[in-house]
Amino acid sequence: MGHEAPAGDLRLANLTKRFGIFTAVDDLSLTIPQGSFFALLGASGCGKTTTLRMIAGLEEPTSGQVLLGDRDIARLRPYKRPVNTVFQSYALFPHLDINENVAFGLRRRGIRKVADQVDRMLALVQLEGYGRRRPAQLSGGQQQRVALARALINHPQVLLLDEPLGALDLKLRRQMQIELKRIQTEVGITFVHVTHDQEEAMTMADTVAVMNAGKIEQLGAPADIYEFPATAFVANFLGQSNLLAGEAGGTSGDHVLVSAHGGRFSVPAARARLDRGPVFLGVRPEKLHLVGTAAEVPAGHQHVGGVVTDASYVGVSTQYLVKTAWGSELSAFSANSGLGGQLPVGAPVVAHWDPRHAFLLRREPGEE
Ligand code: ATP
Repeated sequence: MGHEAPAGDLRLANLTKRFGIFTAVDDLSLTIPQGSFFALLGASGCGKTTTLRMIAGLEEPTSGQVLLGDRDIARLRPYKRPVNTVFQSYALFPHLDINENVAFGLRRRGIRKVADQVDRMLALVQLEGYGRRRPAQLSGGQQQRVALARALINHPQVLLLDEPLGALDLKLRRQMQIELKRIQTEVGITFVHVTHDQEEAMTMADTVAVMNAGKIEQLGAPADIYEFPATAFVANFLGQSNLLAGEAGGTSGDHVLVSAHGGRFSVPAARARLDRGPVFLGVRPEKLHLVGTAAEVPAGHQHVGGVVTDASYVGVSTQYLVKTAWGSELSAFSANSGLGGQLPVGAPVVAHWDPRHAFLLRREPGEE
């Protein structure tokens, strides 16, 4: 492992992988800055694992490059790359104790004195004192930490994580998300994390790439992607969105005018990806507020009328479905005060939003 050399950014350049006539990864180009926590997020089958495997050297690209700094590593054997992988199945050696599992990478390189480094790695993952146990004597979360220590002991320049928390229950997964972020900050190397879980990607990553059908739909900081999605796919994949199909009719001042379902709306130009043609006007459910009458709508807000068709109490909030006069269904999340005041099914309501929280996307042919 060439871990003494400075790493540099990880760059994928026109990376493509075909299996027969099927293109799993389609001309992918992106740069992952050195030392950042990067998440590849997408549904099953979108090509994220194949991308990771090409970085690891477990899959040969059909074309394109994998560059680390200035070096193309795409055709190096896996063990020649300064890259290591943590898989969902921890793949620990059951017959070896934790110390020897963690030491494995050092032993393979012929290093005999491993105790100090192993201790340091176990401290990093907060497993001091567990070295003499066997994997079967640890919990799932602890085994995952061992897998992490084992992957980090060789000081890779890039650590790849393939759904590493997939086998853990929700509570443990949340703990490990915070833990992984802490470890990444501490070791300061590039982490590339593959997941289909949007919350997981957003919690940990500096940058998220949303993948669909072998391509990147959008790449950016979690808040930017959530608040201002680039496509209807991204808007729907990251949380829920109300997307009103309409037509953009140019700008007035610094707003784009939109007609949708008989209503006329506007969106700040800075929140619009286009100003003419078929569009979706998007509002997140937590940005949609419900009141009884139009007189209660705050100045500057836009609104539509409807009827509550469903109210689901989910503790922190109540999730409403509202059917509008033109037959669309809108979703609104309303924080619970704990003092009652929920709206009943059948109540006539006015749904309103601050236009600064809306966004405007291109509507492709066939999208409704
Ligand atoms: P998952 O989360 O389910 O692992 P993914 O986004 O990681 O999904 P990949 O495993 O990268 O997806 O697979 C992308 C596509 O390529 C899938 O349609 C898959 O069936 C196909 N594919 C992957 N490996 C092979 C292979 N060895 N031969 C043929 N097709 C493959």
